[in-house]
Amino acid sequence: MNTIGELIEDTDLAQLCKLSRVARALNAAGHAPATSGNYSLRSKTQPGAVLISESGIDKSRFTEENFLTVDMETGLPGPCYPPKKPSAETAIHLAIYRATSAGCVLHSHLLEALLFADLYPAQAAIQVSGLELLKGFAGITTHRALITIPCFENTQDIEPFARALPPHLRGEDPIFGFILRDHGLYTWGAGVDDAKRHLEVFEYLFRYSLARRGRYQ
Ligand SMILES: [Zn+2]
Repeated sequence: MNTIGELIEDTDLAQLCKLSRVARALNAAGHAPATSGNYSLRSKTQPGAVLISESGIDKSRFTEENFLTVDMETGLPGPCYPPKKPSAETAIHLAIYRATSAGCVLHSHLLEALLFADLYPAQAAIQVSGLELLKGFAGITTHRALITIPCFENTQDIEPFARALPPHLRGEDPIFGFILRDHGLYTWGAGVDDAKRHLEVFEYLFRYSLARRGRYQ
């Protein structure tokens, strides 16, 4: 049996260990109930490879061994023993890597992401500005920056959704994540630390917006 450490380079393994710790912490904070949520890294050592979390694992027990390599273009799994099933939402991660320079993608089922999107029914995108914490997004230097959050209807047809996704991730205003209505949030960053920080900014923004409307205690 190969451990993940025998299949990937140390540089990627170190990031994977860090991402696993983040995944466990996110689970404890309510981001991944009932084995939901998925996480990935763009390999720094294997061009065109992505390390993606496996499907159906309780995130409280998540470790680096719960990841496998997939090809960014085809989505096909690389060597992996024992065989693991990549996340059902792998195609969405791969579309984000193809459309952006992201090094890490986090997918959260945070309740507040759904409730926030419900404040703006029928909008294809939500624009936010004015919060100091928006400066937690990479490259944002003023609370007056305008941030776009695309919102999509939920779907079980992941492959066609992923194929249609890239143009929606490139806009005039910066995009650091998008919401699938009644489902959750995708966010990303240059690495694990950036992606985690971006998720924290989103969570704060959602809680603030809901509290302001009297929908959050
Ligand atoms: Zn999901």
